[in-house]
Amino acid sequence: MSEKNSLPILVVDDEESLREVLHEVLTDDGYPVTTAASAEEALTFFTQSHYVLVITDIRMPGMSGIDLLNKIKEINPETQVVIMTSHASLDTALNALRAGAYDYLIKPFEDLELISAVVNRATEKIRLVIENKQLVEKLKSYNNELENVNQVLRELAIRDGLTGLYNHRYFQETLTMEVARARRHQRPFSLIFIDVDYFKKYNDTHGHPLGDQLLHKLGELLRERLRTSDIAARYGGEEFVLLLPETGKEGATILAESIREEVENHPFAGRETQPGGKLTASIGVSTFKEDGDDASSVLHQADQALYKAKKSGRNQVIKAETSNPGLSSPKK
Ligand code: GH3
Ligand code: MG
Ligand code: MG
Repeated sequence: MSEKNSLPILVVDDEESLREVLHEVLTDDGYPVTTAASAEEALTFFTQSHYVLVITDIRMPGMSGIDLLNKIKEINPETQVVIMTSHASLDTALNALRAGAYDYLIKPFEDLELISAVVNRATEKIRLVIENKQLVEKLKSYNNELENVNQVLRELAIRDGLTGLYNHRYFQETLTMEVARARRHQRPFSLIFIDVDYFKKYNDTHGHPLGDQLLHKLGELLRERLRTSDIAARYGGEEFVLLLPETGKEGATILAESIREEVENHPFAGRETQPGGKLTASIGVSTFKEDGDDASSVLHQADQALYKAKKSGRNQVIKAETSNPGLSSPKK
């Protein structure tokens, strides 16, 4: 018989002849059939093994078919139950349907094909439910996979490949949002612009791959310094920028100075061939909104400060000079 009928069925009736008829018809239809002579015995079987369909007589000595139906639905709500009743108790059949039975069969059986028809209908429904569940599970797992892939893609799209810091575009977007936020809440934020000193010389002396390694290490040092709300990005080449929400000029300058020191003291491979025997960086600091009240002007001020740091000997931190003195000192 076809494999599609392999769903196990439990038949419950106190009359042996009836159990035999059902057993034969359903076995012929290809179902694995178990029979029980009472509701109590059926419950024992049901708790030991998995049945998707239970066909039960209503009136039996001991526990009734309706009680069995309720118990089975409690144990496994997805099990379908077909009840068997005599002409005389059609009312009970209706009660059983209300209690959650899927269908009913009337005894004595006039036509054995009717048994097959009712059972096939029930198992067809069960199969659809199972299939549906499997589809939903599959969809869920596809969705999860897709979500994971999307997450990875999103990360890739905003990260710099060499250092793992945020990329230029993400920084610009975040800066725009930070300006809006800072304006709305009248809060400060600061930018720290960092540029490696004499990096061209480093590359020329040690080769590009070692230069790459240095940039990677520098990215790591920066990331370790920051709070979770801070943004560290590779602005381009050997230039890095930090965005520090809720941070004024003084706090930003202290952080910048400590980063400058850390870079100066870090034993980067091959630094001894750099001017002064050390690998250093120059840093510019600017603050919203004392140095500018939109993204491009705060950025420009940090860049200008960095330029000054380069001009005046490198390896130092320069703060942007407040262009609007009226805004520099908060009112007491
Ligand atoms: P300054 O002190 O004035 O900043 O001098 P500098 O040599 O650091 O500055 P310059 O702008 O002349 O040179 C920057 C160098 O950075 C040149 C470029 O080859 C190198 N560079 C930019 N991006 C990368 C990169 O991804 N990897 C490596 N290894 N080098 C890079
Ligand atoms: Mg440089
Ligand atoms: Mg540069």
